[in-house]
Amino acid sequence: MEKKPISKNELERYDRQIIISNWGLDGQLRLKNSTVIVIGAGGLGSTVLLYLAAAGIGNIRIIDNDILELSNLNRQVLYNEDDINKPKALLAQMKLSKLNKDIRIVGINETLDEKSADKLLNGADLIVDCLDNFKTRFLVNRYCINNKIPFVHGAIYGLEGRVMFIDPKNEESPCLNCFYPEDIPPMGKFPVLGSVVGITASIEATEAIKYLTKIGKNLIGEFLVIDGRLMKFKSIIIKKNPKCKTCGVN
Ligand SMILES: [Zn+2]
Repeated sequence: MEKKPISKNELERYDRQIIISNWGLDGQLRLKNSTVIVIGAGGLGSTVLLYLAAAGIGNIRIIDNDILELSNLNRQVLYNEDDINKPKALLAQMKLSKLNKDIRIVGINETLDEKSADKLLNGADLIVDCLDNFKTRFLVNRYCINNKIPFVHGAIYGLEGRVMFIDPKNEESPCLNCFYPEDIPPMGKFPVLGSVVGITASIEATEAIKYLTKIGKNLIGEFLVIDGRLMKFKSIIIKKNPKCKTCGVN
């Protein structure tokens, strides 16, 4: 694909991040020429998408098969009351296109499963997990390991958030299956506080942007737990499991 240069308008729009140490025009160009897929346009997805679009990721694909409900509005900050009963992927595409007309945003109102994974996830430089269930997370984990696509895992429960970065190109990087058993049962309705979703999603977006601009160090092998009740951030070191059925050496 042809690399697009930075325009005068973009220089002005991204001025305050281009001057970040080690970012520069190179960092901005990397974002502009990147394709990021955000899976889930709910609570985590709302904030992740806002920051990725604002930062100038050139190509954003949004996968979500859900319609907006009133009970989503305590945390899904991309939407408002007029959006109820409309598909989130298409709403997100419309809203983000107004935020940044210089980037390409495609919302896909489809279900991600084993059959659709290749079609929906191809061409990604990075994937962001903004899901609410482990069944689809494990599918994304497998897809990313098999296709060597880095991905940011994020999850929330009540006042707790969790983030980890999985880089299948890095031999030290554990995957979700290295420490989570695959038989985690569906949770059904679980408690969520919007502001903690926002913190967790902001960390996911930061990890994605850092990776693409090649700035700093990602949460590889390090599970960040945000304990909103005590407002403590804990890092749990996770080692790659050589017997892992997804990323281990068979
Ligand atoms: Zn693994």
